[in-house]
Amino acid sequence: MSAREGLVVASHGRHCVVETPDGERRICHPRGKKSQAVVGDQVRWLAPPPGQGDEGTIEKVLPRRNLFYRQDEIRTKSFAANLDQVLILIAAEPVFSESQLARALIAAEAEGITPLIALNKSDLVEPFARAWERLLPYRHMAGKAGPGSHHYNVLPLSLAQSGEADRAALLQHLQGKATLVLGPSGAGKSTLINLLVPGASVLTGEISQALNSGKHTTTSTAWYWVDQARTTALIDSPGFQEFGLRHLAPTDLARCMPDIGAHANACKFYNCTHLHEPGCAVQLQVESDSRPGTISANRYKIYKELFAELSEAPRY
Ligand code: GDP
Ligand code: ZN
Repeated sequence: MSAREGLVVASHGRHCVVETPDGERRICHPRGKKSQAVVGDQVRWLAPPPGQGDEGTIEKVLPRRNLFYRQDEIRTKSFAANLDQVLILIAAEPVFSESQLARALIAAEAEGITPLIALNKSDLVEPFARAWERLLPYRHMAGKAGPGSHHYNVLPLSLAQSGEADRAALLQHLQGKATLVLGPSGAGKSTLINLLVPGASVLTGEISQALNSGKHTTTSTAWYWVDQARTTALIDSPGFQEFGLRHLAPTDLARCMPDIGAHANACKFYNCTHLHEPGCAVQLQVESDSRPGTISANRYKIYKELFAELSEAPRY
């Protein structure tokens, strides 16, 4: 029996669902403990010998382009791989945490991935105006040319009110890419996924039953195709807060925060931490208001907090 290739489209514990290039889906489990596959992985898998059920065995996880982590108090764990883009969906309400937003952006940057921000519920006029204002530093980073060329597009949306227009606007950014959708609960992630993938249910029928038997698993990552040609995908994953950064060193932060990184080259010391050194170009740019090219006081505060956090945390 020869190994076949496939894409991991869902995972629950050690089991995952593998999709073959012709669209067939199979539950598979890894052969050894080490070959843990995550959603987005390309794998080689083997069908069982005749008479030994339906479940396949993953022989090998093919090399990854990138890998995303989530963390809790105890450990850091990978959950998705081979992504092209991260879409961070926040909303006018509930009020979003800027520190969580910054963390998600950093995690994307660390993997060389372009993050895209969407701000939903523009129909809630006043809260939306406040949220839009809070995003000023991020909008100022939009389309910045130069090294790394960062594009923090911030898309205003009203998914519940102007679904069709929003769908078209989103598709322009999503087309041909595998996009991880992240966001705090209540921002409209389910609404967005249902809008782009009507009837979204990656785990249908028997596969769903088999995976969930005896368990109540809600925290799983799933890959949805947006188009029939299977070129555009959304990856849904819960847990905005637990986005893992502990695999980073504190000195990785500046290059993952483009507003800060843009000034780091002008610091007197090449290994400046931008915390207390004389001749630090970053500290000179910190201003309480946000203007293009400066660093907002909030962003610098987040930088310092994360620097301290990553200096303490054990890395895996
Ligand atoms: P999730 O928790 O991120 O999956 O969010 P949901 O998609 O379940 O949406 C949370 C709530 O926000 C629901 O009551 C939606 O009807 C509502 N909602 C979604 N989009 C909009 C919007 O554009 N405007 C307003 N006012 N409410 C919205
Ligand atoms: Zn500095």
